[in-house]
Amino acid sequence: MRYAEVSVNSPVAQRRTFSYAIPPGLSIDVGQAVWVPFGDKILQGIVSELSPYPAVEETKEIIDVIEPCPLLSPARILLARWISEHYLSPLFDAVALMLPPGFERKALTFVSTTPNPDARDISSLSPEPRQVFESVRKQGRIGLKELQKRLGKKKAQTIVSQLVGRGLLVRSYEMEPVKVSPKRVPYLRLNVTPSQAREMAARLREDKRAIKQANLLEFLSQLSQPLPLSEVKKATNCSASVVKSLISRDLACIEQIEVKREPISYRDITPTSPPKLTAAQELALKSIKESLTHKTKGHPDVFLLHGVTGSGKTEVYLQALTKTVKLGKRGIVLVPEIALTPQTIERFASRFPRKVAVLHSKLSPGEQFDEWHRIRSGEFDVVIGPRSALFAPQPELGLIVIDEEHEWTYKQDTLPRYHARDAAIKLAELTGAVVILGSATPDVETFYHAQGGDYHLLQLPERVVPVESSPLPQVEVVDIRDELKAGYRSIFSRSLSQAVTKAVSGGEQVILFLNRRGGATFIQCRRCGFVLRCKRCEVTLTHHFAEDVLVCHQCNYKTPVPQTCPQCLSRQMKFLGIGTQKLEQESTYTFPQARLLRWDSDITRGKDSHGEILGKFRAGKADILIGTQMVAKGLDLPSVTLVGVVSADTSLNLPDFRAGERTFQLLSQVAGRAGRGTLGGQVIIQTFSPEHYAIQAAAKHDFASFYEKEIAYRRQLHNPPFSRLALLVYNHTNDARCQGEAERMRDRLIAERDAKGIDNLGIIGPAPAFIHRLRGRFRWQLILRGAELPAFLSPIPFPQGWTIDIDPVSLL
Ligand code: ADP
Ligand code: ZN
Ligand code: ZN
Repeated sequence: MRYAEVSVNSPVAQRRTFSYAIPPGLSIDVGQAVWVPFGDKILQGIVSELSPYPAVEETKEIIDVIEPCPLLSPARILLARWISEHYLSPLFDAVALMLPPGFERKALTFVSTTPNPDARDISSLSPEPRQVFESVRKQGRIGLKELQKRLGKKKAQTIVSQLVGRGLLVRSYEMEPVKVSPKRVPYLRLNVTPSQAREMAARLREDKRAIKQANLLEFLSQLSQPLPLSEVKKATNCSASVVKSLISRDLACIEQIEVKREPISYRDITPTSPPKLTAAQELALKSIKESLTHKTKGHPDVFLLHGVTGSGKTEVYLQALTKTVKLGKRGIVLVPEIALTPQTIERFASRFPRKVAVLHSKLSPGEQFDEWHRIRSGEFDVVIGPRSALFAPQPELGLIVIDEEHEWTYKQDTLPRYHARDAAIKLAELTGAVVILGSATPDVETFYHAQGGDYHLLQLPERVVPVESSPLPQVEVVDIRDELKAGYRSIFSRSLSQAVTKAVSGGEQVILFLNRRGGATFIQCRRCGFVLRCKRCEVTLTHHFAEDVLVCHQCNYKTPVPQTCPQCLSRQMKFLGIGTQKLEQESTYTFPQARLLRWDSDITRGKDSHGEILGKFRAGKADILIGTQMVAKGLDLPSVTLVGVVSADTSLNLPDFRAGERTFQLLSQVAGRAGRGTLGGQVIIQTFSPEHYAIQAAAKHDFASFYEKEIAYRRQLHNPPFSRLALLVYNHTNDARCQGEAERMRDRLIAERDAKGIDNLGIIGPAPAFIHRLRGRFRWQLILRGAELPAFLSPIPFPQGWTIDIDPVSLL
């Protein structure tokens, strides 16, 4: 007998596997999906190990395989185990990251007759079981569900068990089918023949009020096949009511037609060949190529490609991938957010035509499922996607690229709370792949490793476009306090408003950046200083200008703007702070000649709106683009010559030790938007703290000086990379009980630490979390600072209500 350790899809399983015997005749491999009995259920499991001995005395048998071939490679099984151990997450949750989308489904039970049933057994059956047996025999196979529908749940189960016990029926299991929801689009089609339509159109034309209907009818009569309704409307410039009239006259109808979503439209993409590299690119590529050629499993080769936006990092990725493919291997490219990187995706698609898979959460489950299988069969040289794309079943993995490696979106904030960068490095160790981390503003921890020699540091010091070493934009820092002292109360300082006016009148484009969305971000009483907060979450409420309501951005609580201060009854509730809508309004007022375009998450919920807004701006249909974080990312806008940062202070004042780093990254990124074309560029940053090192360094495009200051603070305060952190949050509806449990846990952890004699393990708190209340529940937190945190925490039982975040990217 052989045995398998199986990761079972049950919340009870947590971080462990279960031993099952492999019945004779069943061929089982590591990574295989199987049905296993678990309690009184049949559950899915993934085989994580084979062994000649079971881990426990009594084992049940694996029932069957779900698919004949293993779903996961041995390396991915090991990666799942590492994620489970390192991030203290249930093993099956980690395994599930790597399974085909829609895999987690229930088992459906079927019954069929055994080959040679004993006639005496059949005749001895009472009428009902006998009926069941006969109808199974007639149909060959019946779903248990169907029998339950006929006989009732209990009775069906009892009878089936009886028949199985007598050896007359056998059970088999199958997965529920994938729920596929194809995308349908309304098409407008004629209900009459084209000639009838033209005739009718001529008649309609006699009535003045029906001219539009006539035109539409005429248009439809000329089509060789129906068009989507939206295209018809665009082409004929007609309204919904015109369409409606035609339909009510029975001349046309709407038909829902299924369309396939192509993540990449190759219509507008022309294949490109690689340019000649600059000297710095050449040097960087040379080291990467060497590693690609010689790398084997074991200690992974990690490259940090550090270079400002426009220094040619993407070109290095592309050519490194070309080399990877030449060596018969494949690559995975991670981007922080797929919706914001259409240009990057196009560049990959045009260098590797039809060999790029894009993983996108907007794909339907069915499409994701297809894509997964196409990737696994080796159809694509490159898989591009957000952090989860790391787990795509890309065979022969040779290269993993993580673009903008410092971005926080690489950390998952639900179970399992993995960091894609660290998981990628682990996967590289297991597969022999090479890792390239790219950034203009590397994570302080990543840079520390690169300096210390754990990673290879590759520098691209200058921009390539349009001519080598075109200068970085000039940055001016404006002290808002000086403006106020001089009596200027506008949200635009004198510098900024002059610069905008000048750029716009010269036909150049401007970006105004603000890192909050909504109207005036918060309101404050001018007399007593009272600030309105959400009663449930305690966070400041945000004013949404268009609807004139206050909104909680944690729980979506909404309330009208009060006329008087709830605390002192003063009528002077003054709007402070600014949001993109307010900024848009003020811009209209200050720059009446400019055409404005606003871009924030309020108006980009739909799939194409990112692309649409960008397209509009690139086509020069607006002079000023107003936006939040989104405008900072990955855009190549050559005619932008001025970027204004309306307030740099929001992120600087957050109570987290990474606030300085975050602000530096954000400002550098925003500044990188200006001057990407031949026109050069200028950046103006408005702030109340112009002397802060993060702002100073960002203004000088000086990562090195920022890093020096920041790493010194980290060392001094013993923060990462000089330690590792774990954030433990407990939530409860009762504040005192919440605090009590957090204190109990602290004592427990201290006792454990002291009993084991562990030095250098700091236990901080408990304290109320920055967001003390969330969706009606209180939150208290503990912070652990030390070295081997997962190993220390692993044996400690955490009651329900605790969340554990190992290597958190934010302490808020
Ligand atoms: P990054 O990824 O660092 O922002 P890119 O690779 O996007 O930089 O390069 C910036 C611009 O320069 C792009 O338009 C790219 O096509 C172009 N470019 C990059 N490398 C070269 C090169 N060696 N020769 C000519 N153009 C290049
Ligand atoms: Zn007041
Ligand atoms: Zn709230």
